[in-house]
Amino acid sequence: MHWLPAKAEDFREETATTRTIVFDASGWSGHLAGQHVDVRLTAEDGYQAERSYSIASPPDGQRVELTVQRVRDGEVSPYLVGEMRAGDEVELRGPVGGWFVWRPEESGPVLLIAGGSGIVPLMAMVRQRARVGSPTAFALLYSVRSPDEVFYAEELSRLSGQGDGLNVSLLYTRSAPEGTSRPVGRIGPDDVMGVNLPPRSDVRAYVCGPTAFVEAVAGLLVAQGYDQSAIRTERFGPTGG
Ligand SMILES: Cc1cc2nc3c(=O)[nH]c(=O)nc-3n(C[C@H](O)[C@H](O)[C@H](O)COP(=O)(O)OP(=O)(O)OC[C@H]3O[C@@H](n4cnc5c(N)ncnc54)[C@H](O)[C@@H]3O)c2cc1C
Repeated sequence: MHWLPAKAEDFREETATTRTIVFDASGWSGHLAGQHVDVRLTAEDGYQAERSYSIASPPDGQRVELTVQRVRDGEVSPYLVGEMRAGDEVELRGPVGGWFVWRPEESGPVLLIAGGSGIVPLMAMVRQRARVGSPTAFALLYSVRSPDEVFYAEELSRLSGQGDGLNVSLLYTRSAPEGTSRPVGRIGPDDVMGVNLPPRSDVRAYVCGPTAFVEAVAGLLVAQGYDQSAIRTERFGPTGG
């Protein structure tokens, strides 16, 4: 893998602190839903910084979309979220990762569990499923603090409203929209049981989010009877340096 130049072409605001950047990466070899890339920024004085970001878009030629949430006092994310303009370039290296991926030809229902920005690689899977018209049952449990922190809200609502086997449940941990029946709080056994995908040999679970979230959810799934080999995890810890 080598570094490729990638030009920012378009932006979509997702939340007050998060935006999606659409890159045109010339020479991109393609990717699978769930993979991530390394992003390298180079300052005028030659100083470089690298960070990892999941790819939000399904495979689409040399188009690569990243969704970045600003980390307060961070070095790279405030630039990507707030300062980068159309036409600016970064370098990308990837795609990275061969385990945390979903391929449409894989059969068996899929359980997706996201904590915060951990929705990004899972959204690539949801989009890939929609793009190819896959009949595979997908259940997404998406844990967020409050309604204004939901990424891709309209798209998720539209896709789950099609009634073609994608179920989306938003789990609010601090404040929920009026009328939400589930009490606010962290994901628990009832949430997992509620998706109606009991552990079976053909069910695969993908869990992504902050490290502590991923570890808690993986433990929850094992306690519910899911086989460890059926659980794929991606941890969004700090990267680069
Ligand atoms: C495989 C992988 C995929 C990722 N995908 C995404 C993605 O799709 N979208 C996204 O927004 N981020 C993603 N991240 C996180 C991303 O790589 C950066 O860590 C994040 O953008 C912060 O970078 P920064 O330079 O702004 O902050 P830094 O300057 O690196 O850090 C500033 C401070 O924040 C802390 N910090 C940094 N990152 C995190 C973190 N992730 N969790 C908790 N504390 C942190 C640092 O320890 C430090 O104290 C991913 C991480 C991994 C490992």
